[in-house]
Amino acid sequence: MNIVIMGPPGVGKGTQSHAVTDSKGVVHISTGDILRMGIRSGSELGRKVYDIMTAGDLVSDDLMMELVKDRLSQDDVKDGWLLDGFPRTYVQADGLIGMLDEIGQKIDAVLVLQAPAEEIVRRLEGRITCRSCNEVANLTGFAAVQPRFCPFCGAKEDPKRPGKPALYQRADDKEDTIRHRLEVFRKRTLPAAWRLEERYPLYEIDGLGTPEEVGARIASVLG
Ligand SMILES: [Zn+2]
Repeated sequence: MNIVIMGPPGVGKGTQSHAVTDSKGVVHISTGDILRMGIRSGSELGRKVYDIMTAGDLVSDDLMMELVKDRLSQDDVKDGWLLDGFPRTYVQADGLIGMLDEIGQKIDAVLVLQAPAEEIVRRLEGRITCRSCNEVANLTGFAAVQPRFCPFCGAKEDPKRPGKPALYQRADDKEDTIRHRLEVFRKRTLPAAWRLEERYPLYEIDGLGTPEEVGARIASVLG
């Protein structure tokens, strides 16, 4: 079974990806992993990626497509894969369709996780990161509560800078940034989903509720 999972930041895509790969026995393929693997392989493609990333530039659609094609053609994913974080744009979706036709594969399910913007802002705004152990906790209303100890490692201060609190809200988890990322998802990534829907079954999944409830919705469409 080949699956594509899409969704805005904070909708629970990571958690659900792991649940699906476990229950369906498919290989999780994230774009981050693909880029790292490409670099490690030492291939010509990998060197190109390394140069671009060390220069701080974004990997072009064409290069990303080559990397995805390379990854989807490998032996370990021939019994199924779950693609996470790709495609992100209409152009990439279009390229993916062409590439799959070329290598004789298809997508069995495109999963689009959705949740109202207010809910996502509420979830992400409640996220705190620990400077000591890097764990991320979900403490709704963190700004008001301001817990003093990390619930994972118990740290109170940044180990590198005494006096600085261990727990903090990442810039990525502030409301303005969240709203911007949601807008980017709506404008750039949803068109990719609708492009895939022209060729493959697409299921919009309600991302509200507990991870178990959302997981059950996904399980019911995957059969
Ligand atoms: Zn910690």
